[in-house]
Amino acid sequence: KKRLLQELKGKENITKDGTKINLYANIGSVGDVASVLANDAGGIGLFRSEFLYLESRDYPTEEEQFAAYRKVAEAMAGKKVIIRTLDIGADKQVDYFGLDKEDNPAMGYRAIRICLDRREVFKTQLRALYRASYYGTIAIMFPMIISVTEVQTIKKIIEEVKKELDEEKIPYKDVELGIMIETPAAVMMSEELAQEVDFFSVGTNDLTQYTLAIDRQNPKLDNIYDSHHPAILKMLKMIVDNGHKGGCWVGICGELGADTTLTETFLSMGYDELSVSPSMILKVRQEIRSLDLKA
Ligand code: PEP
Ligand code: MG
Repeated sequence: KKRLLQELKGKENITKDGTKINLYANIGSVGDVASVLANDAGGIGLFRSEFLYLESRDYPTEEEQFAAYRKVAEAMAGKKVIIRTLDIGADKQVDYFGLDKEDNPAMGYRAIRICLDRREVFKTQLRALYRASYYGTIAIMFPMIISVTEVQTIKKIIEEVKKELDEEKIPYKDVELGIMIETPAAVMMSEELAQEVDFFSVGTNDLTQYTLAIDRQNPKLDNIYDSHHPAILKMLKMIVDNGHKGGCWVGICGELGADTTLTETFLSMGYDELSVSPSMILKVRQEIRSLDLKA
């Protein structure tokens, strides 16, 4: 079995009837890039940038961040690297942010909410990302979006960052901008949100939590935390349809993307990309190649 999977390296992610999909990898540190390449992923679909902040005793500087993002972009040699901006708060706490204890951290001061409130922290990361874009194919993705206004604000901040870099004569490339669809509000607003960005990536871990009102970290609820719930499947269809209508490509980067019992469903719905842990790439490729959507 293992040998069979190894033989899938270098092969396309294509069904028997010719439907293709991009298969990218999720990573959480620069060191994970080796396994992305070893497993022949087409790109990085989710680079959780939290590690830079969690590993550090103080805010990571623009230079430190730039060095890390550049390293990954260069190692991927032109393949797409989608870096998600800071997603701390809730389960991921960092002392130097001085965040208050909250009664409902999952619904609290976290992710893009912190970034839009603490603009200097956000701008430092965006500057590092744009500087690194020059050395490969970087895309930027924003977590926990709930509204069109948030995205418009983010785009204004990006314009400021680009203007600064222009004035400093620092080179950067065009960067695709995307959002995570991981709140029910983002699903319901997906038609409007698609007008603002280049791509969507569905975070099924949080989307399941917020849709079913089930804490993803409470082991007592594991038996009912069901990402196959029809409410989630209906949302997945709605997201891809609305994304495509607005000219976006649409992927899944939550754990569900690696669930091979749903690979056929995702392909039939029209998903363009699945981003899974590096160790799952070849297994999902094997499943894709075994499918015939016309049969
Ligand atoms: C998700 O919510 O599905 C996701 C991919 O992000 P994280 O697991 O980092 O919250
Ligand atoms: Mg999430």
